[in-house]
Amino acid sequence: MTFKTSDAYGRRRLLILAATGIASGLYPLMGRTDSDEGGHESESTGKQTGTTSPVVGIAASGPTGKVVVIGGGMAGASVAKYLRLWGGANLQVTLVEPDASYTSSIMSNLAVTGARTVDSLKFSLSNLTSRYGVVRKTASLQSIDPVGKTVKLSDNSTLAYDRLVLAPGVEFDDAYGLTQQDYTSTMPHAWRAGAQTTRLQQQVAGMVNGDVFVMTIPKSPYRCPPGPYERACVVADFLKTRKGSACKVLVLDQNAAIQAEAGTFTKAFTVTHAGVVDYQSGVTDIQINPNTRAVSYLDKAGVRQQVSARVVNPIPPHRATGSAAGGWMSAAGLANGTNGRWAKVNVLSYESTAVAGIHIIGDASECGLPKAGHVGNQEAKICADAIVRLLSSQQPDPAPVANSACFSPITASTASWLTAVYQYDPKTLTMKIATSGGQIIGGTPTESNAISSKNFRQMDTWFKTLMGDTFS
Ligand SMILES: Cc1cc2nc3c(=O)[nH]c(=O)nc-3n(C[C@H](O)[C@H](O)[C@H](O)COP(=O)(O)OP(=O)(O)OC[C@H]3O[C@@H](n4cnc5c(N)ncnc54)[C@H](O)[C@@H]3O)c2cc1C
Repeated sequence: MTFKTSDAYGRRRLLILAATGIASGLYPLMGRTDSDEGGHESESTGKQTGTTSPVVGIAASGPTGKVVVIGGGMAGASVAKYLRLWGGANLQVTLVEPDASYTSSIMSNLAVTGARTVDSLKFSLSNLTSRYGVVRKTASLQSIDPVGKTVKLSDNSTLAYDRLVLAPGVEFDDAYGLTQQDYTSTMPHAWRAGAQTTRLQQQVAGMVNGDVFVMTIPKSPYRCPPGPYERACVVADFLKTRKGSACKVLVLDQNAAIQAEAGTFTKAFTVTHAGVVDYQSGVTDIQINPNTRAVSYLDKAGVRQQVSARVVNPIPPHRATGSAAGGWMSAAGLANGTNGRWAKVNVLSYESTAVAGIHIIGDASECGLPKAGHVGNQEAKICADAIVRLLSSQQPDPAPVANSACFSPITASTASWLTAVYQYDPKTLTMKIATSGGQIIGGTPTESNAISSKNFRQMDTWFKTLMGDTFS
């Protein structure tokens, strides 16, 4: 299929196709490794010494310009791909990402119980080059010069840009008395899938009947609103079926109530996993001893409680990567969201509200949409479309639409789901939930009315479709 740069209808249609799961043949590429591909920058000059190879299906027309994308995760890979598809071959797109392949956090709770392998969550970035002509740099962003419009990378090279897209995901606070070293070695949060997911899986597999698994949930906003509750469910299911019904999953939620799919998870905690999950909301002052695994906290009534855990899974508060004091995002003046932890954007283009020419998508942005991979993929498409228009001296689409679906496994064979369609509301300049007729209504997403094996099968199709749309 060839996409014309000017075909705005085609762009919208493709966004909808991806959203409704019509795309097919989309499977993870397991165990593949990649190296740098395409053009490379000469040290400190910002000049391209290589060229993007011609790619079948990418029209040699459209606006000229250089776009640099930071981060090859859900949002970054999507924006790089769609910039080339919609922008054409005259648009030079360079993706900066330190890892050769991406490990999906989506579905990673099933890797915590051993129902999936971490390898099955790996997606190669090589299609972005071979199919779409994205130039890749295996490096990390170190600093941004918004005036000179350049970025400095960990390999000491400098890239020049006309538009910069940041999709670096999140970084995690030292919290509850723990350090980054504790998370990596003994108490994995596993809130970004990878080595910590494997470590947590091994710890859970080593539990015996009567053991206690303690997990913490930070205050919103955090990555994947239903994710922690989903983890509590699948771990409870694993423990009671494999280790014995005397196991306990203690959920210490710092929020006043369940943050997503409240009906489903209330039922899951009180019926499906009754007697195993102990859900505590409104918890404060959590303290974790990394050596003894003793956990203490103030319960909702303000009474100090103590528990001795076999496995502790502390999900710490997180923030946009680079937004901490001294980080590259804050140094560039981009961390202007709530408490300086996120980057505020205009949701018509995802351009920073603080610094011109820089767009922030995915979990790092503050835009009113939930921090989720499906949402990151949609934000990427709105951003790609806006950049192509801006580089063509046009204005961004004034009425973007995005959707989000999220499936949550509740047991090893059943799941629930949550979905919403969002539409731009010109009165509040935000994305609001809309009906299928396009009427803006605000409100909350729709959740499934049952926890079922049919949902579990559909979850698999949804995941393959989303990952295929992002990485294939
Ligand atoms: C357990 C769990 C379950 C989840 N389930 C779902 C679900 O069912 N549905 C859903 O939609 N979402 C789900 N999510 C959320 C989803 O994974 C995230 O919202 C999504 O990954 C965010 O995409 P992103 O591109 O912003 O960040 P990421 O996907 O984390 O990608 C960020 C990328 O940026 C790179 N990077 C970081 N710093 C730099 C730098 N300085 N230079 C260059 N590159 C850099 C990283 O290496 C990484 O590849 C889940 C998350 C978890 C933890």
